Amino acid sequence: MTLPVVEIFGPTVQGEGPDAGTPAYFVRFGGCDYRCSWCDSMHAVDPAEIRANAEHMTAEQIVQRVTHLPSGPNLVVLSGGNPALLDLGALVLALRRDGMRVAVETQGSRWRDWLADVDRLVISPKPPSSDMASPDQIAALRAFMSKVTFAPAPVLKIVVFDQADLEWAAARHCDHPQLPLFLSAGTDVGLPDNETISRLRARYRWLCEMVARRSDLRAVSVLPQLHVIAWGTTKGV
Ligand code: SF4
Repeated sequence: MTLPVVEIFGPTVQGEGPDAGTPAYFVRFGGCDYRCSWCDSMHAVDPAEIRANAEHMTAEQIVQRVTHLPSGPNLVVLSGGNPALLDLGALVLALRRDGMRVAVETQGSRWRDWLADVDRLVISPKPPSSDMASPDQIAALRAFMSKVTFAPAPVLKIVVFDQADLEWAAARHCDHPQLPLFLSAGTDVGLPDNETISRLRARYRWLCEMVARRSDLRAVSVLPQLHVIAWGTTKGV
């Protein structure tokens, strides 16, 4: 069985969530059931781009490619798109057999049993600014969460652009208080790097100030997207 791989890169650092700042390799898979308005990975979402650019690789070929990258990290992040659309069970086991920690990022729209085998499950539901927030998304997230007790180290990570997003994130925190919540100040796409970073800085400062005043968010971590600060919106780093 082959898997549609859009990018394999590293060493770099994870820019978001509980492993922010940790050296990592990334494997990005093609295919997504969402179309977020601010998606920064449309090359892994748009079917025509995936058809044109994805490499179809077996789990063994992916492990080999990762192990031939310059050495350093022992963390592999499986990303997308939505990697939970695929059967990555064999890949997860092969990477872990090779001594790697495996983290996966998914929006929580579809459960797969292999998600229970990773070292870190980052669930990243999408707030109103994505145009994907709906009662259906919340129902799918609830169904997903009913399985999450089987997964080690699950966390919620929500990108926040504005006040409506922050209120939506606070409601998800209230729905799922057992999971640590990481908020990421959102990055605007399609702008020159200096403007992207200046807007990210202003949004991060705003988000810190808002969260710091709220007793319902006192256990939450607030981060900027660190990879954007370091590399702008360049792909493959
Ligand atoms: S879920 Fe992620 S990859 Fe899919 S469209 Fe939204 S931001 Fe892009």
